[in-house]
Amino acid sequence: MAMTSTMHTSPSSKTLAEWVRDARQRTLALVADLKDEQLLGPRLSIVNPLLWEIGHIAWFQEKWVLRQASKQPPIRCDADALYDSAAVPHDVRWDLPLPARAETLRYLGSVCDNVLARIEARPAEDLFYFVQLSVFHEDMHGEAFLYARQTLGYPAPPFLSTPHASTLEGGALSGDVAISGGAFLLGAAATESFVFDNEKWAHAVQVKPFHIARVAVTQAEFAAFVEDGGYCRQTLWTPEGWHWRESSGAQHPVYWRRVPGNGWQRRGFDHWVPLEPHHPVLHVNWYESEAYCRWAGRRLPTETEWEVAAAAEPAHGGQGFSPRKRHFPWGDGFPGSQHANLSGKRLGSISVGSLPAGDSAFGCRQMVGNVWEWTASDFLPYPGFVADPYKEYSQPWFGTHKVLRGGCWATQARLLRNTWRNFYTPDRRDVWAGFRTCAL
Ligand code: FE
Repeated sequence: MAMTSTMHTSPSSKTLAEWVRDARQRTLALVADLKDEQLLGPRLSIVNPLLWEIGHIAWFQEKWVLRQASKQPPIRCDADALYDSAAVPHDVRWDLPLPARAETLRYLGSVCDNVLARIEARPAEDLFYFVQLSVFHEDMHGEAFLYARQTLGYPAPPFLSTPHASTLEGGALSGDVAISGGAFLLGAAATESFVFDNEKWAHAVQVKPFHIARVAVTQAEFAAFVEDGGYCRQTLWTPEGWHWRESSGAQHPVYWRRVPGNGWQRRGFDHWVPLEPHHPVLHVNWYESEAYCRWAGRRLPTETEWEVAAAAEPAHGGQGFSPRKRHFPWGDGFPGSQHANLSGKRLGSISVGSLPAGDSAFGCRQMVGNVWEWTASDFLPYPGFVADPYKEYSQPWFGTHKVLRGGCWATQARLLRNTWRNFYTPDRRDVWAGFRTCAL
């Protein structure tokens, strides 16, 4: 089966330098308003001390772009002992002799200047690979900074703008689309300029016909599950899910509270707001998503079904899929604000019915952006998996994590494509994750 995908060429040295500057600017903007004690923060398993994380971003970029690809000596002799995430256990990161904010930012600045100089001096493929890796790594930590601010109840960073209600309120949209089965190439094509090891490579899978929701599950829909005693009915939960529910004592999504006589509110950063009925439910874990599905007589899509719904096109006049596979749900063009809610350009999520220009060929909306979507699938290697130089990226997490797809409002657009696989343990509720469902 010959399925084609448009070649996505490597960024030019000019684009790459812009990305390096842009990612760095975002990192600085994400922490600039925080006090020193907020940069350390409480000892939690789901966040890093932000001061450590800033230094870690610099260390990662230095390690791969300057030390590995450019054979330069280390800038700081203590950097590996402080910032190597594979070597420094999470719970000791608060106890390290971390340099203070000003010194950490100086380290960040000197790595950045040096990387920009290398891009100009030696615009070579291997260097560009590691520069992209370091930018995308910084983008992922940028999203982590944002959800850490949510977790810790810090204010939204001041650079986030408020959405334009008129352009974003698409109202409700519901129902399923029917997708015929057929042969599909799951994963990234070798024509891609940069992909992570867990996306390699496209391989043939057989897909049975299925029906998938046009939009993600909304806050109003999830509230109906909560109100119907969803968190009290063991029969709706898998054994592991019920064990999690019992031990956590969860009665509703983590950032929700009931206001007597006035429904529910949810916390966005340091503000409590009424539920937005047509926005996607956020901050639910895999267990909560599964329990909702059982209650609704639905199921989570597999990651293959998700990728088919986002990337495939129906074959002309018949069953199966066309040979073309889309880079994004709407086609191959880079995400614009009319396609997807990405890059933190808006303050948070938007209505699931908005942005019809971003629909997939089958009419699924917002498959990219707004909210990460849990899938039914375990995070596993594709056939023939070989770890890339950053060995700790995927391999340690196979088998224990679930796959999420599509990115959320806080994810940088340059990071994403239809084949992009994110992965978290099924108990994580701190990330901007929701889900869409399939018919049984
Ligand atoms: Fe990292």
